[in-house]
Amino acid sequence: MYRNYFTHLECSATGTHYDKDQPQNLSEAGKPLLARYDFERAKGEIDRDEIAAREGGFWKWRELLPVRDDKDVCALGELDTPMIDVPATARASGATGKVWVKDEGRLPTGSFKARGLGLAVAMAHSFGIKRMAMPTNGNAGAALSAYCSRMGMESYCFAPEDTPEVNLREMARQGAKVFKVNGYIHHCGALVGAGKAEMGWFDVSTLKEPYRIEGKKTMGVELAMQMGWTLPDAIFYPTGGGTGLIGMWKAFDEMERLSWIGSERPKMIAVQAEGCAPIVRAWDKGETHAEEWLEADTHAMGIRVPKAIGDFLILEACRDSGGFAMSVSEDEIQAARVTCAQEDGLLLCPEGAATLAAMEKAMANGQIERDAECVLFNCGSGLKYDMPEGAKPLDRHGEIDWGSLK
Ligand SMILES: *Cc1c(COP(=O)(O)O)cnc(C)c1O
Repeated sequence: MYRNYFTHLECSATGTHYDKDQPQNLSEAGKPLLARYDFERAKGEIDRDEIAAREGGFWKWRELLPVRDDKDVCALGELDTPMIDVPATARASGATGKVWVKDEGRLPTGSFKARGLGLAVAMAHSFGIKRMAMPTNGNAGAALSAYCSRMGMESYCFAPEDTPEVNLREMARQGAKVFKVNGYIHHCGALVGAGKAEMGWFDVSTLKEPYRIEGKKTMGVELAMQMGWTLPDAIFYPTGGGTGLIGMWKAFDEMERLSWIGSERPKMIAVQAEGCAPIVRAWDKGETHAEEWLEADTHAMGIRVPKAIGDFLILEACRDSGGFAMSVSEDEIQAARVTCAQEDGLLLCPEGAATLAAMEKAMANGQIERDAECVLFNCGSGLKYDMPEGAKPLDRHGEIDWGSLK
């Protein structure tokens, strides 16, 4: 039995407290709820290095998480995702310092959505919830369906109709009921809300329930652990709903309160695609909230999020960290994907490639020092996304001109 320090939920806008012992969605103010813990007490009782030495990937941080009972933990072989240095890519991008890719594609169902949904499903299970629903661009639904099936729960996934087939089929094969909707992710989200009364499902949309962010915050803790309880100079994060960026920022604060790290912080850089950059537009205008982005268009599906409910939290983390938000073009994303795959043998997903493109751009225009230690988040397996045809036909019966193979 692990110690548990979860005390209550708090509205991210008003600070109002909410009961943790029942299922919760948004606050009365319509804003995300954040989990709060008694870290004063935890500080004297738990040992950072003892916890770090455990197995189990993100589940090892139990004292920093809301889940109380082992029976609610849904495990599918989670692991600490590797930090991979990419020296040739760094050089090609004009960086002179260390550049790391934190490769989240190694998690169950091939993306970091496993972290958030693992926690959300565990907490729903603890409340006896049997049916979950969410809008998804692909990876979230994959993680939801897998963990729900694992725990004997039902899942309903609503995806924009142009979501890659591989993701839709993965969800369906893992037991979800999957629907292709003629609209964007927030239209899918509206359907989840509208069907709630009749279908009796729990809405597990990004930040509309409080525990996905707790799962995502483990990226920040794991990163600190892997860097010897220090943090890099800059973190480039492909930002859709922003759960990971907000979660890591929360984790840094919590770790400081536990005296696991000091007060130093990396610059948090929210990266979006030019075809869907509501956060960047709000950043450039100096606004605290982001307007909906119309006609969103990028094949980096994970960051095709026209309207994020945690927009103000993303912008706040960028600002408070001395970071910023920036967008990159589809061509820059593709070029970065080729560079990293061919220079360093690491296949990024388009969203991950966007962070590499952003780093190159930020160094070129002086926003980030060339010798800064940078961490790029590759949030999903590159294998789930389209790649151009690469093979040429070869007739084994004919005479082969070996020179032409070069
Ligand atoms: C969901 C997703 C993102 C965006 O993550 P958020 O934390 O919701 O901003 C980025 N990349 C991939 C591959 C994703 O699946």
